[in-house]
Amino acid sequence: MKENYLGVDVCSLTYDEITSSLFHKIENSQKSFIVAINPEKIMKAQTDENLRGLLNKADYQIPDGIGVILASKIRGGNIRERVTGIDMMITLCREAEKRGKSIFLYGAKPGIADQAKIQLEKQFPKLHIAGTMHGYEKDEEVVKKTINEANPDIIFVALGSPTQEYWIIRHMDKLAPKVYQGVGGSFDVISGNLKRAPLFFQRLGLEWFYRLIKEPSRWRRQLILPKFLIKALKEK
Ligand code: UDP
Repeated sequence: MKENYLGVDVCSLTYDEITSSLFHKIENSQKSFIVAINPEKIMKAQTDENLRGLLNKADYQIPDGIGVILASKIRGGNIRERVTGIDMMITLCREAEKRGKSIFLYGAKPGIADQAKIQLEKQFPKLHIAGTMHGYEKDEEVVKKTINEANPDIIFVALGSPTQEYWIIRHMDKLAPKVYQGVGGSFDVISGNLKRAPLFFQRLGLEWFYRLIKEPSRWRRQLILPKFLIKALKEK
C-alpha cells in the first residue's frame, strides 16, 4: 500500500482505510506514527539522509500536497486524492468521539491548543480531550509527565516540521499514547487564528496558489513544486 517518490514512501490509503487500520491497532495496543508528505519534505530528504530515514520510519506517510498526487498520476500510481494532515486529524477526532477514545493536543504558541480544544469540543461534544500543552516548554520531563498523566489514546503534535517528527520518533516508545500524528500549523487553523484556503481552492488542488496570493514571499518556497515534479518524472 506504499508508493515511493525519490526515496520517500507515500501511503496510498484513503482517510477511512487509515482510520480503521489505526483504531484496530489501538485495540491491539500497537503504536503508530503518521507523517504528512509534501514535495518540500521529499526535496529536503534528498540531501538529508536522517530526514529520509525518519519519514520512511512512519507507519503512514499521508499524501498532503498536490505535487505528490500529480507525481503519482504521471507515474501510474494509485494516489488520487490528498490526505491532508488537518483533515486526517479531524477524521481521527470524529472516530475517537464515536469509539470513546481520548486525544491530547501538544504544540503551538501558549493558549492556542486550549482554543483549539474549545473549538473541537463544539464540533465533537462527546470527544474526550485528555489534555493540552503548548509547544514552547523547554523541560522535556514536564512535557512527558503531562502527557503520560493524561494518558490519551491519540496525540497530535504541532511543533512544525521536521521538529515534530523528530520529537515523535524520540519519545513514542516511552509515552502512553498509541497514535502519534505530526500536524504542523493545524492548531492555529482549528483555533481560528489562521485561515485555510476556501473550499473552492482546496477542491481544485490550488491551496498553494491561495497561500501564494496571501503571502507572496512564499514564492521561493513554492519553486520546489516544479523542481520536484521534474525530478520525480526523470526518476523512472
Ligand atoms: N511551534 C511550536 N514550538 C516551537 C516552534 C513552533 O509549538 O518550538 C509551533 C508554531 O507555533 C506553529 C507550528 O509549530 O503552531 C508550526 O507551524 P508551521 O505551519 O510553521 O509548520 P509546518 O506545517 O510548515 O510544518
